[in-house]
Amino acid sequence: EKRNPNEPEFLQAVKEVTEDLFPYITNNHPEFFDQKILERLTEPERIISFRVTWLDDNHQVQVNRGYRVQMNSSIGPYKGGLRFAPSVNQSILKFLAFEQVFKNSLTGLPIGGGKGGSDFDPKGKSDNEIMRFCQSFMTELYRHIGADTDVPAGDIGVGGREIGFLFGQFKRLQNNFTGVLTGKGELWGGSYIRPEATGYGLLYFVDCIFKHKGQSLKGKVATVSGAGNVAFYAVEKAMQLGAKVITVSNSLGTLYDPDGFDKEKMAFGATLGRNLDQYPAHYPNAQFLPAQKPWQFKCDIALPCATQNELDESDAKTLVANGCICVAEGANMPSTAEAIKVFLDAKISFAPGKAANAGGVAVSGLEMSQNSIRTQWCTEEVDNRLKTIMESIHETCLKYGKESDFVNYLKGANIGGFIKVANAMKAQGVV
Ligand code: NDP
Repeated sequence: EKRNPNEPEFLQAVKEVTEDLFPYITNNHPEFFDQKILERLTEPERIISFRVTWLDDNHQVQVNRGYRVQMNSSIGPYKGGLRFAPSVNQSILKFLAFEQVFKNSLTGLPIGGGKGGSDFDPKGKSDNEIMRFCQSFMTELYRHIGADTDVPAGDIGVGGREIGFLFGQFKRLQNNFTGVLTGKGELWGGSYIRPEATGYGLLYFVDCIFKHKGQSLKGKVATVSGAGNVAFYAVEKAMQLGAKVITVSNSLGTLYDPDGFDKEKMAFGATLGRNLDQYPAHYPNAQFLPAQKPWQFKCDIALPCATQNELDESDAKTLVANGCICVAEGANMPSTAEAIKVFLDAKISFAPGKAANAGGVAVSGLEMSQNSIRTQWCTEEVDNRLKTIMESIHETCLKYGKESDFVNYLKGANIGGFIKVANAMKAQGVV
């Protein structure tokens, strides 16, 4: 805490992991304490912070701060998304980069952990402003990344459009067409299924949880938060697997449809953008609840897919009291520490983001492989690989997290993600 003042999100993420790792290391690998593996894991290998200056449409100069946190490269090049949002700061990016190290290790692919972004707010900006910002951002970032060094991707506020502008500027500066970013368009080096991967992967993981319980998703009621990339594809796959999804949300409020969404309703919802409040005009049984969260509704499964710390202790208590038996995180650290305690005490299945939302980075890893061998696998091939990876993460969680009458997925993911990285660090010496 002394070394990382004013970084509450980073300290929260580290505390959550070390609570499981301390007893495990003490009992199984005391040599990791001598090697100072935990101290090394919690200190980024490198943090780059830089000025991003750009001209808005009124020819006014704008200044933002850009970052890249290169957290750990012991099992592969740094890999993790870029986030553009006004809330971005060093604490948030360090927590995301730290989580990414464990998540990437769990995928079984050779990728290290990193994260980056800017306090730039893309909301309300024109396409040209977004392009100028991305070009300026990349004009500094290009020195620090590369297909074998650090491979950024998208996150909140960074989708296909932004990746396109960033990639175009990188290629122009380096005269080099390489897989330096993932989430590229399908026509120019991107992988099929990458946009869908996090949401689909989340549901493949939830499916494994229910199969392990001897149940299926058919007829289960699910609440989802968020209405972005992760939430949208999570809803789609949940419906395909037979669940009834009754909410989505954004930072303005929650859309509740007691009849459940279907394909047509989702297609209509997608045309509304952030104006979810217009949905009830077409589907009168539905309600838009300004400034409310989705966790008040009775459900079997809750899927927080919006942002960090969006589900607190009182939300968790409501979910448990209403009979929810599974919470799986599509977002990164959406549940507060107090909420997680409620889930673990109630012994419901709690799947942390580092395991449950790893499908996105897994397909990003597959995009890197396809770029390296200059090929493009078909949709079915990528989807099958994604499914296999999520099943294998579930197995890892069982291996390290199974207790007598309950699977502690958080403990399983923390230890399962740690062990490979720790052994690699030990093997590579004191660096
Ligand atoms: P998007 O930008 O596509 O969507 C984010 C959604 O969350 C928007 O609907 C946004 O609403 C909503 N949201 C943001 N802040 C809040 C808030 N405070 N309260 C309620 N809703 C809010 O991002 P993604 O879907 O890509 O990412 C969502 C989460 O998933 C993040 O935590 C991200 O780190 C994580 N993640 C994403 C991956 C990916 O592949 N994209 C991979 C793994 C994790 P509004 O438009 O009103 O702001």
